Amino acid sequence: MYAGGIALVLCICVSIAVFCYLKSQYLSLACEEFNDQHISAGEELGRYIYSLANDIGGGVVDMGRYYGSAFEDRMEILANNLVKNEAFSHIFFLGSNGEFYGDEGIVAPENPEFIAKAYAELEELDYSGDGMYVGMRLSAIGSNSEPRIMIVSPVYAGNVIRGYVSGIIDTDRLFESPLFDYQKARGKCFVVDTEGQILAKTANMTNDDKASFRDTVLAICRDSEDNRNSLTGIRYALNKNDSGYVVVRTLKGLEMQINFCPIKNVNGLSYLCCYTPGLQDEMFRPMLFWSVLACIFIMVLMIICMLMVWANAKHVNMTVEKLAYEDPVTKGKNFSYFREFALDTIMSSPNTNYAIYRFDISNFRYINESYGHIRADHILEACIKNFEQIFSDEELCVRMNSDQFLALVINDATLEKRKNDFRAAVNADTRSRNIKYPIRFKTGIYHVKKNDHDIDMMIDHANVARKSVGRDTKDMEVAYTEKIVDNMRKIDRIESMMHKALTELEFKVYLQPKWDIVNDHVCGAEALVRWCRPDGSIIPPDKFIPIFENNGFVEQLDFYMLESVCAMLRNTIDEDGSVYPVSVNQSRLLLHSPDYVDNVAAIIKEYNIPYGLIELEITETVFENGRDDMIRIVGELKELGIRVSMDDFGSGYSSLNVLKDVPFDVIKIDREFFADTAENEEAGVILRKIVDMVNELGKQVVCEGVEYEEQVALLREMGCSCVQGYFYSKPVPAPEFIERYFRK
Ligand code: C2E
Ligand code: CA
Ligand code: CA
Repeated sequence: MYAGGIALVLCICVSIAVFCYLKSQYLSLACEEFNDQHISAGEELGRYIYSLANDIGGGVVDMGRYYGSAFEDRMEILANNLVKNEAFSHIFFLGSNGEFYGDEGIVAPENPEFIAKAYAELEELDYSGDGMYVGMRLSAIGSNSEPRIMIVSPVYAGNVIRGYVSGIIDTDRLFESPLFDYQKARGKCFVVDTEGQILAKTANMTNDDKASFRDTVLAICRDSEDNRNSLTGIRYALNKNDSGYVVVRTLKGLEMQINFCPIKNVNGLSYLCCYTPGLQDEMFRPMLFWSVLACIFIMVLMIICMLMVWANAKHVNMTVEKLAYEDPVTKGKNFSYFREFALDTIMSSPNTNYAIYRFDISNFRYINESYGHIRADHILEACIKNFEQIFSDEELCVRMNSDQFLALVINDATLEKRKNDFRAAVNADTRSRNIKYPIRFKTGIYHVKKNDHDIDMMIDHANVARKSVGRDTKDMEVAYTEKIVDNMRKIDRIESMMHKALTELEFKVYLQPKWDIVNDHVCGAEALVRWCRPDGSIIPPDKFIPIFENNGFVEQLDFYMLESVCAMLRNTIDEDGSVYPVSVNQSRLLLHSPDYVDNVAAIIKEYNIPYGLIELEITETVFENGRDDMIRIVGELKELGIRVSMDDFGSGYSSLNVLKDVPFDVIKIDREFFADTAENEEAGVILRKIVDMVNELGKQVVCEGVEYEEQVALLREMGCSCVQGYFYSKPVPAPEFIERYFRK
C-alpha cells in the first residue's frame, strides 16, 4: 500500500511534467503556425498592392505616349478604367501645369495653392526602382489628413515629367483575400507605416479609434515596461526589415501575441496582427481538458488496480494466517496461535487468575479404532465448539495434536460449573453422533502465577501434571506441584536404572508362605519381587511395578520372576527338597502379549516343572478388555499344568461372572476385604458366603493378609483352609525360604 502511494504520487508528478512539456510544445507549434499564416498573408498584401501598381503603371505608359495631343482623352480612359477597378477609392492625374483630372472628392482643383503644394509633394517622392511610388501616405492630398496608401506614377512625355497619376487604395478591400480568413478569425489585422500610424485595419481594438498602432495596443494592455519594450521591439525589428512576434499582457492579464512583418515591395508599410488575447490558452483548453481527463482515467485505473492488488494481498494474508493459525481438524485455532494469545492475555491482565489446562480424552485410541477416525474427529471438533460456547472470549482452547488439547481458562468461582457444562455438552454431542463411549478428560493444570512470562514453561508444567494422572485413577485432574515433578524425577531415575538392574540381577525373588490352617503346615508360596540395590537398600514392588506397568518393562520382569521361580523349584527338586506350589504374579499387560502362553510353556518345559507346581496370579482387571481371549488363555495355561489364581478378589468391583466364566483353580481374597470382617458383621457374612461358594465351586480359597491368630481361627471356622500373611511369615528371600520350608 505504501509503495502504491509512492507510485501514485510519482504518476501524478510524471503526468504534470508531461503535461507541461506538451503545453510548451503545443504553444510553440501554435506560434509557428501564427507566424506562417502571418507571413503568407503579408506576402499576399504585397502581391495585391503590387498588382494595383502594375494596373496604374500600364495606363501611365500609354498616357505619356499621347501627352499633348489626345492627352485628356487618354487620361479619361485611364481614369475610367481605373475607377472601374474598385480596388481604388480615388484616382487622379495632377499635371505640371496645374491640370487636374480625376475624382474630385480627393482634391480641390479650384485652389491653385493647394494644387501646387500637392504637386510639390508628389515631386519629392522616391521614384527609384521600377519608377513608381507605392505606399506612403500623402498628407497634403485630400481634404482631411487621413492616412492613405497611395500608388503614384510619374507621367513622362519624352524625358520630361508632365504630371503624376495617383491611386488611393481602398483599404476596406485590402483584407478581402481568403488568405486573411485565418487571422481575421483569430484576431485583428493592421497595416501601419514607418511611424506606426495605422493605414488599414480589419477592426478597431477598442471603442476609441486610435491612429497609432502603439496607442491602440496600449489601450487594452497594461502600461507596463515589458509591454512598452515589446512594442518598441516591433518597431526596431520592422526598421531592420525583420519579421517576428512579441507577446504582451492585456489589462485582464491575458497574453496577446502580436505578429509583424514588412510588406514586400511596398515602401515603409508593415503588416501586423494582434491575435485575440488568451487565444493560445483557449486553443489549448480542449487539449488540457482531454489530457487531464486521460490522467484522471489512468489514475483511477491505477487506484483500482492497487485496490485489487491490495484486496488480493489481504486475501492471501488471511489464507496464510488461517493456515498458520488454524487447526484443520477442529477448524479452531492451533498451538502457534494459542502461545501468542495466551501470553498476550496473561500479560495484559495481571490481576486475573489464569490457569493452563492440558488435557486429552481417555481411551481415545479405543474410540478411534471402534468408531473410525472421522467420527472420532467429530468429538475433537465438538470439544473446541463447546468450549467456545461455554467459555468467554478471554479463554481459549486449541487442539495440539491427536487428542491433546490445551486451554487457557480464568480461574474464578464459576470455573467448576463451566467445566461441568463443557463435559456434559461434549458428551451430549458424542451421544448425538451415536458414540456410546463416555468421554472423560485426563487433565493437567498449571495455575499461572504473577510474573510468569514463559508460556512454554507453563504448558510443560500442565503437561507434567497431566502425565501424572494415573491410568486407573478416578480423579482425572491433577494440578501441577513440585511433588509431581519430584515423582517424575523418581520415575525417570527408576526407568534409567531398570535395564541395568535386571542384567545385574538386582531383582530378587522373595517368597511368602501360604499356610494350610487345617493341618497347620506350609502348603505353598507366593513369589514377590524385591529390588535390592547395590547399596543394600531394598525397593518394594509398589514403588516400581506401576512404573513398569506403564512403560511395559513389567513383561520382562514377570518372565524373569517366573524363570527364577522355575529355576529355584528345579534346583530344590534336584536336591530332593519337598516342594509346594509357588505362585507368580502376572501383570495385565503380560497376558495381552500374543506369544504369552508359548513363552510360559517354553519356561516350564525348559525347567521341566512338574504338573501343578506353578501357579499364576492374575487380577480380574485382565478381563476388562478382550474377555473371551483371556478366558481362552487361562484354559491354555491350565492345559500346560499351570494353576491359575484370581488375585485380589473383593478389592475394587469384583464380578461374580468372572468366577463363573473363568476356570480359576484358586481365588485369593484380598486383604482389604478381609481386614473389615472383624468389625463389620456384614462383611463377615459375605466373606463366609464367598468361602462357601468358592468351596462349592470346587476351587481353593486363599485369604491374604492374615496377621492375627483370631483371624486364623475365624477363617478356619468359615471353611477356609489356606491363608497367607504376616502371622505366619513376611516374604523372605528365596534361599532363606527354601532353607526354612522346602528342606526335608
Ligand atoms: P499382591 O500380589 O497382592 O501381594 C501381596 C502383598 O501383600 C505383598 O506385598 C505382601 O508383602 C503383602 N502382605 C502379605 N501378608 C500381609 C499382611 O499380613 N499384612 C500386610 N500389610 N501385607 C501383607 P508386596 O510384596 O509389597 O507386593 C505388593 C504388590 O506388588 C503385590 O500385591 C503385587 O501386586 C505386586 N507384585 C509383587 N511382586 C510382583 C511381581 O513379581 N510381578 C508383578 N506383576 N507384580 C508383583
Ligand atoms: Ca499376588
Ligand atoms: Ca493379592
